[in-house]
Amino acid sequence: MNPFFKIDERIEKAADDALKMCREQFYNIDSITEYNQQKVLSAFIEYGISESHFVGSTGYGYGDRGRETLDKVWARVYGAEDALVRHNFTCGTHTLATALFGVLRPGDKMLCVTGTPYDTIHNVIGIKGEGMGSLKDFGVLYDEVPLKNERLDYEAIESAVDGSVTMVYIQRSRGYELRPSLSVSEIEKVVKISKKKNPDVIIMVDNCYGEFTEKTEPTEVGADLIAGSLIKNAGGGIARTGGYIAGRHDLVEKCAYRLTTPGLGKEVGATIDMNRELYLGLFYAPHTVGEALKSAVFISALFEHFGYSVTPRYNETRHDIVQSLGLENEESLVAFCQGIQKGSPVDSFVLPEPWDMPGYDNKVVMAAGAFTLGSSIELSADAPIRPPYYAWIQGGLNFHSAKLCALLAAQSMEDKGLLK
Ligand SMILES: *Cc1c(COP(=O)(O)O)cnc(C)c1O
Repeated sequence: MNPFFKIDERIEKAADDALKMCREQFYNIDSITEYNQQKVLSAFIEYGISESHFVGSTGYGYGDRGRETLDKVWARVYGAEDALVRHNFTCGTHTLATALFGVLRPGDKMLCVTGTPYDTIHNVIGIKGEGMGSLKDFGVLYDEVPLKNERLDYEAIESAVDGSVTMVYIQRSRGYELRPSLSVSEIEKVVKISKKKNPDVIIMVDNCYGEFTEKTEPTEVGADLIAGSLIKNAGGGIARTGGYIAGRHDLVEKCAYRLTTPGLGKEVGATIDMNRELYLGLFYAPHTVGEALKSAVFISALFEHFGYSVTPRYNETRHDIVQSLGLENEESLVAFCQGIQKGSPVDSFVLPEPWDMPGYDNKVVMAAGAFTLGSSIELSADAPIRPPYYAWIQGGLNFHSAKLCALLAAQSMEDKGLLK
C-alpha cells in the first residue's frame, strides 16, 4: 500500500511488471548519461570554471567572462567550434529563427529534408502567415523532401541537394508527429550525401528534444549548425529561459550579429544574474535527460502492459524524449492528463479541461505542473482531441516523481472505469 497516494493494487502490480520490462533500456540509458556527464564535467574542468564565472554583468555586458566562457564550454561539449548560449532567446522557435535569419540571404534556398518542419517554424519560413517578415518575405526560397514511410528518403535527398541549395535543414525530434526521431548516425548519412553533392551546403539541425539522448551530437558528425531551447533538454531543468546555437565559428558569429546587431554580435548582452543557472543547467542536463528518458520508457511499458498502443515502444532505441500513447477516446485522454496534473509538484490542484487553443483546429487538453512555465523537460502531457486520440508526453525531472505521476494518470482513468 502506498502511504501517500491512493493507487489500486492492479496498477501497483502493473507498475512492478513494467519496471521489470524496462531493465535493459535503463541500463543503456545509464551508460549514455554517464558518458555525457563525463563529457560535460571534463569541459568544466578544462576551462577552469570558478565562482567568478557566475557573476553577471549589467548594461552593455562588455567583457562578461562568465558568458564568454559558457559559450566555450558549450562548444566543447557539443564538439563545435563556437556557441551562442543566451537567456535572451525567448524560446526554441526564436533561437531557430535567429539561426535561419542569421545565415540565409535573399536568393538562398533552404531545403528541409525531414518533411514539413515543426509547426511554429512555418511562420518563420513563410509557408504560413503573411506580412510578418518571414524568410520568404526577404526572398529566401524554401523546398522540402517528404519522408518516405516515415523515414528519411536518402535517394530523394541526394537528387534534391544540387548547387541551388544553400542549407539542408534537419529536424531531429519527431515533435508532435508519430514518425520516429532521427538518430545521429542517420543525420551523419544526410551530411555525407549532401556534402558530396554540394560541398558548400550548410547543414542545420533543429536539435530540440534530442540533446544528450545519445553519446554524440549532430555537430560531432558534420552538422554545421544546431539550435535548441534551454527549457527542454539542454537547460537541465534548471535554466528558466533561453536557447543555444552551436556550430561552425563563422556561422555562429553571423547568428550573433542577428541576435544583437551587425558589428556588435557576441560582444554585448548583459547576463544579469543568469550565468550560474546556465552553468548549473548544463551540468545537470545529461542526468536530467536520463531521468526523462527513463520516465518515457516506463510510461511506454506501463501503458503497453495495459494494452494501449504506444510509440516508441519501451524496448526501442530513443533519439528524443518524446513519448506518445494511443488512449483511444476523448474521455481517456482527458482523464490521463488530469491524473498527470494531480501528480505534479506545482499546480496539482488544477483540473485540465479541453479548450480551443488559438492556432489549432481541434480542442487541446494539456497537463503541466512545472517550476518553469511551459518547460517540457519537466513532465508534461498534451493531446489534441481528435482520432487516433494520442497523448504526447515528455520530460520528468526525476524518474521517481514521474513514475508516480504515471500511476496517478492510470488511476485517474481507472476511477472513471476507463482503464483497460
Ligand atoms: C519545441 C520544439 C521547437 C520550438 O520550440 P519552442 O521553445 O516551443 O518555441 C522546435 N522544434 C522542435 C522539434 C521542438 O520540439
